[in-house]
Amino acid sequence: MKIVLQDLTKTFPGRSKKEPSEVVAVDHFNFEIPDGKLIGLLGPSGCGKSTTLNLLCGLLSPTDGSILFGDEDVTALPPERRGVGMVFQNYALYPHLTVRQNILFPLQNLKGKDKLTKAAMNERTKTAARLVQIEELMERKPSELSGGQQQRVAIARALVKMPRVLLLDEPLSNLDARLRLQTREEIRRIQQETKITTVFVTHDQDEAMSISDLIVVMCKGVVQQIGKPQDVYDDPANLFVAKFLGTPPINVFSGNVRSGQLLVGENPVLTVPGVSDQDVFVGIRPEGFIPASDGPLCCTFEGVEVMGRDISVVSNHVNSENASIRSIITAETPIDTTARTIRFSLKPTKVFLFEKESGKRIRFQNAD
Ligand code: ATP
Repeated sequence: MKIVLQDLTKTFPGRSKKEPSEVVAVDHFNFEIPDGKLIGLLGPSGCGKSTTLNLLCGLLSPTDGSILFGDEDVTALPPERRGVGMVFQNYALYPHLTVRQNILFPLQNLKGKDKLTKAAMNERTKTAARLVQIEELMERKPSELSGGQQQRVAIARALVKMPRVLLLDEPLSNLDARLRLQTREEIRRIQQETKITTVFVTHDQDEAMSISDLIVVMCKGVVQQIGKPQDVYDDPANLFVAKFLGTPPINVFSGNVRSGQLLVGENPVLTVPGVSDQDVFVGIRPEGFIPASDGPLCCTFEGVEVMGRDISVVSNHVNSENASIRSIITAETPIDTTARTIRFSLKPTKVFLFEKESGKRIRFQNAD
């Protein structure tokens, strides 16, 4: 089921004299979510992710714009008539019911033509439990389950009604690091098996990048960029997106362009054909630095962090906007750890320029 968002907008009124102006939580969101895909809705706290999800499931009505599921306009439909399965961060299981009863619950509330026989309900419950691999836990209460198991029950409960659309709001936030990794792979598997169009909300870029077909990066209610995770990482539309994606984060310097040369401080560090003279922000991905004794970018050497296969060289520069510069290089690269400075040449495809005022990307022709 494709989902179409047309100019979707949600404003909330100002709450007090101190906060008189309205909050635009979602601002003219236009997007067609392709059928059967997993979309990661990503952004910092307060950017409008949950509001978008609540608009999709019908818990909130938009101030403007519309939502279509396939060709059906669902903007005015109440949540129970949208065919949406929802999974929340806190699982929201009924503590007094067993796993089986929790999963069964949404089916018992079906009315009219949707009503199912007892046998059909039991069959659906079994199928959902099998899908999330909790068949052996059916008679336990939620308090007798681990966080990861509880989240599986919540997913089974959302799937049991065979929803047209699955919405997941920070479903992994309450899990520890190892379980998060495992559960996110599970969600991917379940989504691929069921082929239900799924929207997954998270503020964790690693999570969104690793399982999404497409990511939507939001900031202050405004969509910044939509694309395949790798494409957005490799080709960010603006400084916000460049800074939001990537661990370690992108290194940002203030620089300027003069006669087709990018300068950081006094030194020309890269040829940037086609860019007019101006002050810029320069973003360099950690993998964009190549240690080279004759490299044009000279930084103060601070140390080395071992990361296993790779190492991170930590350095500094007077024009760096980050407290430390982190460059990722292979562990075999020889580094003189007694030196006061380290010089780098730069990989042009890993260097991005941004307008100083707006943060918009400035593209240059790659000399390579
Ligand atoms: P988080 O990751 O912290 O959950 P989010 O990206 O999901 O954040 P939303 O909850 O969608 O953000 O909130 C978007 C903006 O709308 C925020 O500025 C928030 O304060 C505001 N907002 C959300 N709900 C309401 C409400 N009921 N009344 C007033 N303002 C609201």
